[in-house]
Amino acid sequence: MISMGFEKFGFVSYVSQAKIGEFTEYLKKNQLMGTKCKKCEKVYFPPRGDCISCLGDEVEWVEINGDGKLVTYTEVNFAPTGFQEDVPYILALGLLNSGQQVFARFSKDVSLEQVKSGMAVQLVPCQIDEDRVTYEFQIP
Ligand SMILES: [Zn+2]
Repeated sequence: MISMGFEKFGFVSYVSQAKIGEFTEYLKKNQLMGTKCKKCEKVYFPPRGDCISCLGDEVEWVEINGDGKLVTYTEVNFAPTGFQEDVPYILALGLLNSGQQVFARFSKDVSLEQVKSGMAVQLVPCQIDEDRVTYEFQIP
């Protein structure tokens, strides 16, 4: 089990940087996009406006393949004010085949009994309501 303050995981907290503001627009179009550092070519998902590897600050958009495997997961039963109706849900750490580690929820239609570390998962864009988009893991 993992504990990293998952309950604080927000839907949009990673889009605060202006440079990667288009991220949600891509998600709305059902595209999973990450950023690639123009200098060292490291690919980030979720996207970053700068590169923590070489400290380069020029990035470009690249489409991310959502295929990967489940590293670990936890069931979240408590949520901060305003998010109570979301619980319980399964929060997962996945490793994409392209190398990125991604935290995301499992799709609501996936139950805890179906989930096993090491299994194949697929990260897909997901529309929460009219305004909010995110991405989630599904069983491929
Ligand atoms: Zn770099």
